[in-house]
Amino acid sequence: MDWTDAAAAARAAKSILLVTHVSPDGDAIGSMLGLYNFFVAQGKQVVAAVDDGVPKFLQFLPSAEHVVGKLKRGKWDLMIALDASDVERMGKVGAYGLKHSKMVINIDHHPTNTQFGDIWLIDSQAVSAAELVYRWLDTMQVEMTEPVAVPLLTGLITDTLGFRTSNVTAQTLRIAQSLVEAGASLTEVMARALVHKPYSYIELWKHALPSVQLDGAIASANITQADLKAAHLNEVTDGGLVGLLISADEAMVAVVFKEHEDNSIEVSLRSKPGYDVATVAFELGGGGHRQASGATIEGPLAAARERVLKLLAKAVQEGELMIA
Ligand code: 5GP
Ligand code: MN
Repeated sequence: MDWTDAAAAARAAKSILLVTHVSPDGDAIGSMLGLYNFFVAQGKQVVAAVDDGVPKFLQFLPSAEHVVGKLKRGKWDLMIALDASDVERMGKVGAYGLKHSKMVINIDHHPTNTQFGDIWLIDSQAVSAAELVYRWLDTMQVEMTEPVAVPLLTGLITDTLGFRTSNVTAQTLRIAQSLVEAGASLTEVMARALVHKPYSYIELWKHALPSVQLDGAIASANITQADLKAAHLNEVTDGGLVGLLISADEAMVAVVFKEHEDNSIEVSLRSKPGYDVATVAFELGGGGHRQASGATIEGPLAAARERVLKLLAKAVQEGELMIA
């Protein structure tokens, strides 16, 4: 880990651009805003950007209102990519940032990270990018403050599904403890970033549940454009449905196929420990973690299903061989 190189680069930089991945989750925005609030307190000129801005459920985070959804001008001494496993994943702001920054630090915990950039803080054992930000600040002996702690705890909690994933260790809980000691509320972060949903997500489930299927150990469902319209949703989401599917005892892998307006299909994958869906996502041009991954592939829906279900059957077989 290049902790000291990264610290030196940050110290030398007057202007810093922070970016994360498109369709940002709690760890994407949490790790980015934790660093943003730290650098602002240091008197740096900081810009935090993600295509289309911060999703509603994360707008409670301190400084969320400062995140920009587009970059039209500016150049920076340093760009820091958070929770983004490849260059494309950073979207338009990432492409702009790469062209207009002198140096790039890549902070990520995806095993599928392509190791872009100049300095790497990459550790696939880390439960979240927020954990890596915490550890980086810790190596710099920074005193934790509430505006930094709240976003970082959000990243930690969302990526571990509330400390429920198999990679959670005593160290994860120690980090959470020190973030709570710095003023972050476990109750509030859990409720706002993990539990609360808009009613429209439940309405979406109402329309999508008839498509649910269990084939052997593979649970699947479709979210069509018609389902999204019926639920009055403008975003393409499964509203967390894939998490419900993988909770079935019989399901070793779960997949939700989400239909975009242009007919492309976004695939969300989950698995039980011992089964690897990251490899499947990577084969499809996406990425992620062994237990949670995704990709966007060509439609139409039926063809995408056939292609992905075949790969998942192989992943189930391989998982069973490993476990046996
Ligand atoms: P979700 O199903 O929540 O959208 O995605 C689960 C995880 O899969 C994400 O946290 C991310 O790590 C990964 N992921 C989802 N879609 C993509 C994609 O298109 N490209 C890459 N590289 N990773 C993805
Ligand atoms: Mn993450």
